[in-house]
Amino acid sequence: MGRIPREEFVPPESRLQSYQDEPVSIGYGQTISQPYMTALMAELLELHGDETVLDVGAGSGYHAAVLGALAAQVVSVEIVPELAALAAANLARAGLGGNVTVICADGSHGYPERAPYDAISVAAGAPEVPSALVDQLRDPGRLVIPVGPLIDQELLVVEKRHGRVDTHVAAYCRFVPLRGGGGWQ
Ligand code: SAH
Repeated sequence: MGRIPREEFVPPESRLQSYQDEPVSIGYGQTISQPYMTALMAELLELHGDETVLDVGAGSGYHAAVLGALAAQVVSVEIVPELAALAAANLARAGLGGNVTVICADGSHGYPERAPYDAISVAAGAPEVPSALVDQLRDPGRLVIPVGPLIDQELLVVEKRHGRVDTHVAAYCRFVPLRGGGGWQ
């Protein structure tokens, strides 16, 4: 994360906040997540460098850039067209888009075209773990997702291994709502 210029992913008028440990508004009612959360979620995925990762909720593209530094390929899905364009532009300007593909789609259903994924990271809170995401996770694979009511959530790690799916709570958090068919609609 020290190598990734976060200021390239923060709106120009908020650049003084680039290295503060807090979310920053990126428009359309959305935020670039708190850096601590991006770090924690990336750490929980236990990436080694050869994985294909699905990132749901591209937003500014910053989280995708961090995942791109840790894995081989990142597919980053964003439901708001303007933010999908913003994420792609930010990644390109920062020179970090080489292994990140930004797609405008409802990622609450995952992105079956590129499945299975070694790891899946969801940057918006869901009422429950969308079954499509578990289906698109490779065995072995790890999914990290905030789940719970709109006001605050549990950060869940869903681990698929030897045909089994185990879930544990890694942290408590507050994310913007996951929209779409597998989210809050
Ligand atoms: N990872 C982003 C954080 C973005 S906040 C970053 O580093 O900047 C969560 C994002 O999820 C928002 O941009 C929101 O528009 C997006 N989102 C919400 N529901 C979604 C869905 N069903 N599919 C894809 N993106 C979604």
